[in-house]
Parts: sequence; structure tokens; C-alpha cells
Amino acid sequence: MSDISKCVDILDLRNFDRKDPEFTRFHVNSKKVCEGTLFFAIKGKHHDGHSFLREAWEKGATAAVVEKFVKDVPIPQILVRSTVETLGKLAKRKLEECGDSVRICITGSNGKTTTKELIHHHLSKIVGYPIFKNEGNMNTEIGLPLTILNDYHGERILVLELGINKPGDMDKLVKIIKPSIGIFLNLGSAHVGNFDSLEELFYEKAKLIFSLEPFSLAIINEDDIRISNLKNIRRNLRYSGFGRKKGKVRLAGWSYEIENGSFATRSIYFIDGKRTEIKLKNVWNEGQLLDLSAVLCLIDSMGYEVKVETFEDFELPDGRFKLSKVHDILLIDDTYNSNVESVKKAVGTISNLPAKKRIAVIGAMKELGKFSGWYHAELGRLLGTFDIVFIYLKDPEILMIRDELNGLNLREEKDPLKLAQDILSVVEKGDLIYFKASRAIEIERVMEEVWRNLSNF
Ligand code: ADP
Repeated sequence: MSDISKCVDILDLRNFDRKDPEFTRFHVNSKKVCEGTLFFAIKGKHHDGHSFLREAWEKGATAAVVEKFVKDVPIPQILVRSTVETLGKLAKRKLEECGDSVRICITGSNGKTTTKELIHHHLSKIVGYPIFKNEGNMNTEIGLPLTILNDYHGERILVLELGINKPGDMDKLVKIIKPSIGIFLNLGSAHVGNFDSLEELFYEKAKLIFSLEPFSLAIINEDDIRISNLKNIRRNLRYSGFGRKKGKVRLAGWSYEIENGSFATRSIYFIDGKRTEIKLKNVWNEGQLLDLSAVLCLIDSMGYEVKVETFEDFELPDGRFKLSKVHDILLIDDTYNSNVESVKKAVGTISNLPAKKRIAVIGAMKELGKFSGWYHAELGRLLGTFDIVFIYLKDPEILMIRDELNGLNLREEKDPLKLAQDILSVVEKGDLIYFKASRAIEIERVMEEVWRNLSNF
């Protein structure tokens, strides 16, 4: 969207001394600013974007959208009540101007990225034209509008994961996007600390389904009674379900095999009662296979034929339960984020994988607030199946798992490099090492050090 003259109702350009400003990029981070950027000054928890106007100007920003004028910086400034809201309004306008599109939106505590990537992968191969998706963490009230403004070029289908952290987030996202199809994957503890209860978190996510126009398609998890009960609460939608026990698409079972030295997963689904076998690269856990069942449900319900062979070359996104082997040692990179529901699915799979010793390298789970003790105790119980647990003590919240792990071989370390050395001192051929913590903990620093040392072995 470079023709800002169409947005004068959103951006007041009266104080702007150039008549027809050209904006080629939209940024909130002054480090990313380049020639032609419209810079949005956002006041965050740690930094206030208004302090970075000079840097934005020096890097070539054409103008800045601000909530208060900043003196002594020559950059043209456009005053608005809320810079975040303005960003959303511009993205909404761009979507409207680009004409009709199908906006497939995904919510859930786990599996949004995996599901989005799967849908994008499959639909791109079968529809024959480009499909838009938001990248990883561009799923918030700031990230989503930014990616629409910078990267969307009028594609007819958009696959978007919607990330919510606090009450009210979903209202803002659906207002910008106006979802055409909603997918509600599951409900777990992620971000629950920012809500009063799990119920409140559920209703925030459910707003995606409530926002749909009558007779729109809603893909829901039939194994979760709260989610499947939405059918009785928001009635006039076209529901299609997936799950282990019930639904249009049912995950019936799976097995792991080794082919030419690499792992593969053979999964069995029933789609409207028809047995369908899908072969996947690498080892998929039950959660990821359920994400795939949501995708099959969507594809079939949209009227497309499911082409199972298109999934054969699909690569799981990095950091999401991704296996690799170095010198006969199995590393499981699950470092992207952590909560007990995803650990539970991971543990279910790990106990079925061949290993001499099973080693877990674990850090804290964040954003659990008053529920933290309860969930960390649960995490401790889940880790009881490992032979050794290494605790990465970057955040002491993780120590709450200790009481549940009495008697287990338990080691603690604050320094990521020392921790890596401790791990390397016990690891042997045939072992399996599982890495897991919340994003903020950056446990990949430990994993990368272990990986580097093992590769140089
Ligand atoms: P999100 O985008 O919602 O954070 P990801 O696709 O990035 O989800 O996956 C994050 C983690 O959740 C990974 O560890 C993955 O193995 C796990 N996971 C994926 N889908 C599910 C599911 N349906 N249930 C439980 N865990 C899941």
C-alpha cells in the first residue's frame, strides 16, 4: 500500500508537507527501517518507539506515525490516538482494497504453525496459484498487520495463524482480518497466566469461531468437549470435526519406521469413513498428526480432493519436535516453545523410540502466572520417563519440577556452555537427547553447543 492518499481518513495528513508521500515498507523496529518506510512509534513494555524517531529518520524513513510529537527530529510526524490501532486499520484497508479472498484463520494452544505450514504446502500444490501465509511470530496485533502491509500482494487465499496472549487480543485480530474459515485446534495452558482462568482463555480463542459470518466453515477438535460444544453455542455455521475418537477426519493410528537410515511416520486416517494412509518424513508426534487431521478436514470440507502424496516431502518447521541424528545420537529439537500439553505428546513418542538412555534438557515454561507451580509439577511428573534430566536454570521457575523427580538422575546448571559440557560428559552412542523450554529461555543455545561438539567429534 503505497497510495496513502486513499487512507486520509485513517492518517491525518494535514501537517504533512509532502502531498503524495510514498511508503514502500511499514516498520515498528527502527533497526529494520529502510528508504521509504512509514515508521510506527509503539510504546512497548521495555522500549518506547518514540525514542527511536531519529534513528528511523537517519535510516531513510519517509514519515513516522506517533502518539505524541517528538521535538527536534526533522522526520514528518503523523499524530494518531493509537499507533497499534492505526497499523491494524491500514492492514484492514489493504485487505479490503485487494478484493475478495478466502482468509483461513487458525487458533489453538499448540500446532498453529505446523497446521498453517501444512495447509500452505498442500493448497499451494493443488490450486495452482500462490497462497499467502504469515511467517512464524507475525501473528499478533502488531505482527499480523505488518506482514499484511509489507508482504501481501492480493493472493486469493490467505492462511493465517492468530496468536493471542491476553484478553481482548482475538477481538482485535478478527476485526482486522474478518476470517472466512476458522480452525480451533485445541486448548492448553499456553499463556493461561495472562487470563483469570482456562475458561477465559477458551472464550478468547473461541471468538474466532464467533466472528465468522453465518454458514461459514468452522473446523473444530471433536476430542475436546469445550471446543466441540461450540456447535451448540454458535449454531449457524458449517462445522467439520477432527480427532482421535470422533469427527469427519479421525486419526486411527501410526507407526515409525526407518528407511534408508532416515525415520518415517506412517499414519492412518479415516476421512468420512474412508481409510487413508499418509507417509511422512521424520518422526511425528500425536499432536502433530492431529494437526494434519485438521488440515485433511479443511481440505475435504473446502471441496478439494486430498492428495496424500503432497505431504511426503513436507518438512516440519524447525524447533517443533524435529529429530536429527549425529554419530548415532538422536537429538530432538523441541526448543521453539513449551507447555505441558506439547511435552505430553512428545513424551508419548519418545518412549516409543529406540534409545539406550533417554536424556531431557529442560527449561522453564513462561506466562503461566498463578498456575505456574501446578503446571511445573505436572511437567516434573511427565519427565519421570527419562533416565537423566538436565535443568537449564536460566529461570528458577523450572526448579518447581524437582519435587516430582525425586530419585531421578537430576542435574542443574545456569551457564548454557557448561551445561552443554555436562551433557556431553554423559552422552553415549545410542542415546536420545530431548531439548524443551519456553521461547524466552532460548534453550537452543545449549542444544547448538551440544550439536557443534558432537558434529566435530
Ligand atoms: P504453535 O504455533 O501453536 O506454537 P507449533 O506448530 O509451533 O505450535 O508447535 C509447537 C509445539 O507444539 C511443538 O513442540 C509441537 O510438537 C507441539 N504440537 C504441535 N501440535 C500439537 C498438538 N496438536 N497438541 C500438542 N502439541 C502439539
